Parts: sequence; C-alpha cells; structure tokens
Amino acid sequence: VVVYISKKIHYKLHKNRATRLIKKRVGEIALLYGVKLRKIAIRNQKSRWGSCSKNGNLNFNYKLIFLAPELCDYVIVHEICHLIEFNHSARFWAQVAKTVPDYSIKRKVLRSVNLNKLGFQ
Ligand SMILES: [Zn+2]
Repeated sequence: VVVYISKKIHYKLHKNRATRLIKKRVGEIALLYGVKLRKIAIRNQKSRWGSCSKNGNLNFNYKLIFLAPELCDYVIVHEICHLIEFNHSARFWAQVAKTVPDYSIKRKVLRSVNLNKLGFQ
C-alpha cells in the first residue's frame, strides 16, 4: 500500500529528527571552524538548502536529512563559512575547501537534486 502524505505532514513528521541531527552536525562543524553560533532554525523551505542572515542566524532545510551525509555536511559547512566571510569571494571558498576540498563536485550534485521530491520517493 502506498500512502501519500501532504508536504505539511511530511515536515511535521520529520522536523524533530531533522532538528536534532542538523543541530548536532552544525555544532561539530562550528567547532572545527572556531565560530560562535547564534540562532539555528530548521525550516521547510521550497528552494533553499540553507541560509545565513546578516546577524549570523543560520537556517537549514529539514530535507537535508534525506541527502547523503557528505552533501548535508557541505551545506552546513557552506553556511558556517558565511559566519567568517559573508560573501562568495575566493576567501569564502578557501574556507569551505578547508573541510570540503571537492566542494565544486558537491555543488554540482546538489544542483541535480530535486528538492521538491526529496524525501517522498
Ligand atoms: Zn552562500
């Protein structure tokens, strides 16, 4: 039997586990970079994996938990590096490369993921 559930219910079902797993990993990666964390929110975003606000709050898509762990890590590393460099300059990418040397491959793979369908297959 195939049960179809709404996007809203899917988010409700997975939010707590996503919050626990993502926050744990964010804490570990923040330690590697020696950055201080502010607010971390896990959201149901339609088209973003994560974001960093000007005042240093981080947002992550709950669907990160449905990605391969190394892709999830890349997204977290990316946002944490924005706490160091609030731009996409060469200096920013050099920070990313410290822990994800093959970040350009990971970016390419992520672009091929259908975020809308992820977690529903
Ligand atoms: Zn960015």
